[in-house]
Amino acid sequence: MVYYFGKSKTEGKGLAKTLLGGKGVNLAEMTSIGLPVPPGFTITTEVCGDYYKHGKQLPKGLMEECHDAIAQLEQELGKKFGDNDNPLLVSVRSGAAVSMPGMMNTILNLGLNDAATEGLAKATKNERFAYDAYRRLINMYGDVVMGLSHHSFEEAFDKIKKKYKVTEDTEVPAEGLKELCEAYKDVYKKSAGEDFPQDPIKQLQLAIESVFGSWHADRAISYRRIEAAKGNTEIANLIGTAVNVQAMVYGNMGDDSGTGVGFTRDPNTGLNKFYGEFLINAQGEDVVAGIRTPQPVAEMGKWDKAAHKELMEIKDKLETHYKEMQDIEFTIEKGKLYMLQTRTGKRNGIAAVKIACDMVKEGLITEKEAVLRVPASDLTHCLLPSFKPTARNAADVLCRGLNASPGAAVGKLVFTAVEARERFEAGEDVILVRRETSPEDVEGMSAAVGILTSTGGATSHAAVVARGWGKCCVAGASDVEINEKAKTITVNGRKFTNKDTISLDGTTGEVMAGEVETQEPKLSGDFAKLMEWADKYRTMKIRTNADSPADAKRAREFGAEGIGLCRTEHMFFEADRIIHMRSMILADDETDRRAALKKLLPFQRKDFEGIFKAMAGLPVTIRLLDPPLHEFLPHEAAAQKDMATELGVKPADIKKRSEALHESNPMLGHRGCRLSVTYPEILEMQVQAIVEAAIICAKKNIDAQPEIMIPLVGTAAELRILRAKVEETIEVTKAAKKHEGELKILIGTMIEIPRACLTANEVAEYADFFSFGTNDLTQMTFGYSRDDVGGFLPDYIEHKIVPVDPFQSLDQAGVGQLVEMGVTKGRSVKSKLKIGICGEHGGDPSSIGFCNSTGLDYVSCSPFRVPIARLAAAQAALKQAK
Ligand code: PEP
Ligand code: MG
Repeated sequence: MVYYFGKSKTEGKGLAKTLLGGKGVNLAEMTSIGLPVPPGFTITTEVCGDYYKHGKQLPKGLMEECHDAIAQLEQELGKKFGDNDNPLLVSVRSGAAVSMPGMMNTILNLGLNDAATEGLAKATKNERFAYDAYRRLINMYGDVVMGLSHHSFEEAFDKIKKKYKVTEDTEVPAEGLKELCEAYKDVYKKSAGEDFPQDPIKQLQLAIESVFGSWHADRAISYRRIEAAKGNTEIANLIGTAVNVQAMVYGNMGDDSGTGVGFTRDPNTGLNKFYGEFLINAQGEDVVAGIRTPQPVAEMGKWDKAAHKELMEIKDKLETHYKEMQDIEFTIEKGKLYMLQTRTGKRNGIAAVKIACDMVKEGLITEKEAVLRVPASDLTHCLLPSFKPTARNAADVLCRGLNASPGAAVGKLVFTAVEARERFEAGEDVILVRRETSPEDVEGMSAAVGILTSTGGATSHAAVVARGWGKCCVAGASDVEINEKAKTITVNGRKFTNKDTISLDGTTGEVMAGEVETQEPKLSGDFAKLMEWADKYRTMKIRTNADSPADAKRAREFGAEGIGLCRTEHMFFEADRIIHMRSMILADDETDRRAALKKLLPFQRKDFEGIFKAMAGLPVTIRLLDPPLHEFLPHEAAAQKDMATELGVKPADIKKRSEALHESNPMLGHRGCRLSVTYPEILEMQVQAIVEAAIICAKKNIDAQPEIMIPLVGTAAELRILRAKVEETIEVTKAAKKHEGELKILIGTMIEIPRACLTANEVAEYADFFSFGTNDLTQMTFGYSRDDVGGFLPDYIEHKIVPVDPFQSLDQAGVGQLVEMGVTKGRSVKSKLKIGICGEHGGDPSSIGFCNSTGLDYVSCSPFRVPIARLAAAQAALKQAK
C-alpha cells in the first residue's frame, strides 16, 4: 500500500503510473537517478479505490505502514514528527495517473503543533517563519480537511494586521503571528467543534482521507467528465488518486529561498528554451495561484547563479533520461535546490509537433517515436485559425497579457462559468473573463471560445487548463479591471459590457476590441515533416466526408486521398434547389415527380462535376439520397389548445414542454435505399447526374472516379435490385450521351444496419465495396437515437455505464464486433473487397486504431480531421507492428 522513496531505498522504482500516480512514479524515478528530491512515500491509487469500495474507510494496516515509513523518514533526516527540537514536517498531495491540474487537495506543513512550532523556531532560528508555517497549516487544514469557511480565518488575520498597523501579511511580526496562531486555533475550535489536532499522526490520517475525498469533489468529477467526453479514455478508467507524503522544504525561509515551476521547453511554441517562473521567498502554491507575479527563470542567475546553473543541468539530465519535455517544480531552501516534481509537460499541438521534430534532429528520439509522440487529436491546434495580418494591424488593441495558450478567439464577454455555459448553450461564442480561474470554473472554460484573466502567470490554472484543451487564453492582462457584479471590464478607461465582443490573440497575448477577422492556418514546416513521416508508416488510406467542391479541395490540401462519403442530400438545401425538392416530395404521381427531379438534375450534375474536378484522379463515393423526405419539409405543430383548455393551463406551457420532450427517434422509417425502392426515379436522376458529370469530366480529360453508394441496406435483395437499377441507368445515360469510352464506376453499399453485418456474405455478392456507416450502426446496435442521446448520455458517462460517447469513439466491444463480422463475412466471398468507414468515428484516433487492426482499407472523416486521421493511422500501424 505504501512505497518509500529516499536515499536509503526507492521502493516504487519502475512501478506503473496507474498504481503510484504520475507524481509518485516520477518522485521515485528522480530519486533513483540521483536528483535532489526530499524523501517521502506514496500511498497507491488502489488504496483510494478500496477507500470508496469500503464506504470511505481506510484499509486495515494502512496507518501502520505509514507509521513505518514516517519512522524511516525520521531516521533519514534526523528529525522527529511533532518534535520540540527539530520537527519533521511533511506535505500531503494528491497525484492521479493522469494529471488533473489543481482539482484535488494539498496540505502543507503537516506535523506542526504547539510544541513542534517551537521546535521549528529553534531549528531554523526563525520564530517568525515557524509561526507563519503554523498559521498556514491551521488555515489550510481547516479549509481543506475540515471544510471550514475561509472567511473567519481572514477576519482573524485582519484583526491582527489592524493591531500591528500593517496592511501586508509579510509585515506582521513574529509576536503577531504567534497571536494569530492562537486566534486561528480558536476559530478552528469554534467552527469544527473540536481542537486543532496536536497529534501529527492524526493530522496525517485525516489529510490522507481528505485527499481521497477530493477525488469525488464536484470539480474533479466535472474535469474528468469533460476530459472523457473529449475522448480521454485514460482518465475515464482511473480508480482513484495516489497520495504523496513528502518531507517539506521551504522556499519561504528568506531572500535566499524561493520556489518555481517550469517546462524544459516552451509549451506554446515548442522552442528548446526553458520556460519557467520563480518567486523569491515564497511557498510552492504561490506561483501557480497567481497571487504574486513571478519572474522568468531566465532572470534567476542574477539572484542565485549556482542554483540556476544546477537547475539547467537537471533540466538537461531529465530530458536525456525521459527523452521527453518535462514540467517541473522546484524549491530553493537557503540556496539548496530541491526537485519536487517532474512529469511529461503538457503542450499544445503546435509545440508537440515542433518538439517531436526537434528531438529527432537532436538524436533523442527516432522518426517513429516522433510519430507516436504527438497526440493525434492535438493536431487540431496546428489547424487553428489565427488573425488575418491586415485585420490585426488595423485592430484596436486594448492591452497585452501573457500569451498563455495560442489561437484566435472572438466572442462576447461573460463573467462567470455559469453564464458561459448558458450563453454557449444558447449558441453564442463567448469569452470568459476572470481575475484568475479556479478549478470550479472548468465547465465555463470548456464552454468558452477563449479565456482572459487579469492576474496570474503562464503557469496559472487558466493557462495550464486552456493549453491542455488547445483553447485560446490570455492570462495576467493586468490592465483589465473586472467588475463581475456590474458585468463590465474597464481597460485603460474604456468600458465593455457582456454585450460587447472582443478578440483574443493567445499567440501574442493581445486583447482587442470588437471582432477581428481570422484566417486559416498554414500547413508547412514541422507539421509537413511530421505528416510526411506519418504517411510513410501508415497503411490505411485516408478519405474525407465532403459534399461540395470547396470542402473537397480543402480536404485534399489536408491530404485526403479521395471522398469516402458525399451526402447528396446536403446539395438539396440551398435556396435555388429546395423548392424543386419540395415540389418533388409533394408530387402526387410519378410524372410530376419526374418533372421536379428534372429541375434538380442540372444542379446535381454541376456539383458532381466540381467535386470530381477537385478530386481528380481520386475515388469519390457518392451516396444516393438517404434521409426521410419529411426532413425537407417545414415542420409545424398545432392543436395543443384543446388540451390546454381541458387541463386549465396555458397553451404555451404545453407547447414548451412538448417541444422539450420531443424526440425524433431513430430514423428507422422511409429512408435510405427504401426511398429508391419506392421512388426509383430519384435514384435514376442522381445516377444520371453522376454519369453525365463523369462524361463531361472525361471530355475535359479530368480523371473522375465515381463510386455509387447505396445507403441503409439490410438485405442482399435490396442491393441486388438497386444495383441492377443503377447499372441500367448508367447504360441508358451513356447511350443517351453517346459516350463510347469506358466509365469505371463502382457500385457498393453502406453497412449501417446490424442485419447487413450479420449477412455481409450475402450482401457482398452485389457490392464492389463496403463502407461502414457507424453512426447509424451505433444507433441501431445500442438502440439510442443519435439525435436525442443528449438527454441521458451525460448521466451514462458519469455513471460509467459507457466510458465515452459511443457516437464519438467507436464501441469496440459491441459495435466493433459487428464491424469485424461484416469485414470477415464480406471478404469470405470477395477476398479483396474494398472496405472503409465513413461514420464520425473515421476521425477519432482510438476508433482509427480499431479500423487498422480490423483490416479496413480506409477511413473517411471531415476535412479538418484528415491530418489527425493520417497521424492516428500511422500510430495504429506502428503500434500494431510492435
Ligand atoms: C453513418 O450512418 O455512419 C453515416 C455516415 O451516414 P449518416 O451519418 O449520414 O447517416
Ligand atoms: Mg447513415
